[in-house]
Amino acid sequence: MLYTKTKNTLGDYKSGLAYAIEQDRSDELSEYRTLFHIPKDKDGNDRLYFTGNSLGLQPKTTQNYLQQELDDWAKFGVEGHFEAKNPWMPYHEFLTESMAAIVGAKAIEVVIMNTLTTNLHLLMVSFYQPTQTKYKIIIESDAFPSDKYAVESQLNFHGFEAKDGLILWRPREGEDLLRIEDLAFILEEQGDEIALLLIGGVNYYTGQYLDIKKIAELGHAKGCMVGIDLAHGAGNIQPNLHDSNVDFAAWCTYKYLNSGPGSLGGLFVHEKHAHNKKLKRFSGWWNHNKETRFNMRQPFDVMPGAEGWQLSNPPILSMAAIKASLDMFNKVGMDALRKKSVKLTGYFEFLINTLNFDGIKIITPSNPQERGCQLSIQINIKKMEADKSLHQKLTEAHIITDWREPDVIRCAPVPLYNTFQDVYTMVEKLKNILNE
Ligand SMILES: *Cc1c(COP(=O)(O)O)cnc(C)c1O
Repeated sequence: MLYTKTKNTLGDYKSGLAYAIEQDRSDELSEYRTLFHIPKDKDGNDRLYFTGNSLGLQPKTTQNYLQQELDDWAKFGVEGHFEAKNPWMPYHEFLTESMAAIVGAKAIEVVIMNTLTTNLHLLMVSFYQPTQTKYKIIIESDAFPSDKYAVESQLNFHGFEAKDGLILWRPREGEDLLRIEDLAFILEEQGDEIALLLIGGVNYYTGQYLDIKKIAELGHAKGCMVGIDLAHGAGNIQPNLHDSNVDFAAWCTYKYLNSGPGSLGGLFVHEKHAHNKKLKRFSGWWNHNKETRFNMRQPFDVMPGAEGWQLSNPPILSMAAIKASLDMFNKVGMDALRKKSVKLTGYFEFLINTLNFDGIKIITPSNPQERGCQLSIQINIKKMEADKSLHQKLTEAHIITDWREPDVIRCAPVPLYNTFQDVYTMVEKLKNILNE
């Protein structure tokens, strides 16, 4: 054989509306879209919503789940803790199994509590224990600002300067994406001084899905703790947290997990730390042994597993919205979701590439194993400012995408509620705008 034919990276997609219609028709998950409220334009038509990476849409059942708790509060008052249909006392436990399945964890490793940045801090209380010689923290150069601020403040809190203690893992000159060998190099050079790696599993800006198992391996080889921010991963990719062996992870539930603005976050602590009572941590009554929690005058006795990081009794109304969403995820399953997602985003990429337009470039990896559903499109068009012009025009055309400084438009076709026709129409409109 003279050569082997490599599979076209664009896949077996076809252009034209008929193909999109056919894909939607044969899509086994197509009915799920009808279970969501889709934002409308002023004429009452569905807008093209591509920002599930920022705030997921509202399941129609969310209202009923919230109403149930409002009714039980009205009916039972304080006794709702035990008498409610879903008793509030153990309410967070109703979410654990589904949440664990989504991120590939064991039930003992997961809890829903607080919000993402708060949880990162609580986790760093335990897993960032610097010494005078081993105190540095690695993050991605393009980490989400909140994560960067959190890490800087932890350094300061322990008496270190961010400009000395913070190490940025950067893309190479002229590149947009991170290379694992560059992280290996940093660890090789400075590993003895590094205490913690805190890395976005799926980068919010580029959409790059990093090999978190490999990151854990590299970090652990140098005696570092490894934590993953899964804000853009949970409900999007399948991170297999337990097998990845990372020490901890945290994420929010209002992005791909459709649980409503500012909703509670998820937290993972690997089983290997579940029974370590010596780990430093902050405490409250909610990480105290459930059996004796209400025998108020007990000495503190920490609960095993991720529940051992809780502080307060949780807000049931927010948890009810999470339950509505997780019950749906539970039914669909991440395997089916991910399968559709790979196809849908591949189709999106294919259509954008067929535009053959010089001024736009997808910076997200084209390998499906290195990305979730989001594509980040970098805009470099002389006569058109990416933000004020292109993003504005997309919005005027009722396409909701989001704009990130300095020059990227992020678009996430979400497999639960976006369709192949959404993607087709979006790219057609983009083409018209670009050709104006
Ligand atoms: C969305 C997001 C946040 C937001 O943090 P909150 O504490 O929920 O406000 C933080 N980090 C990353 C990586 C995010 O994507």
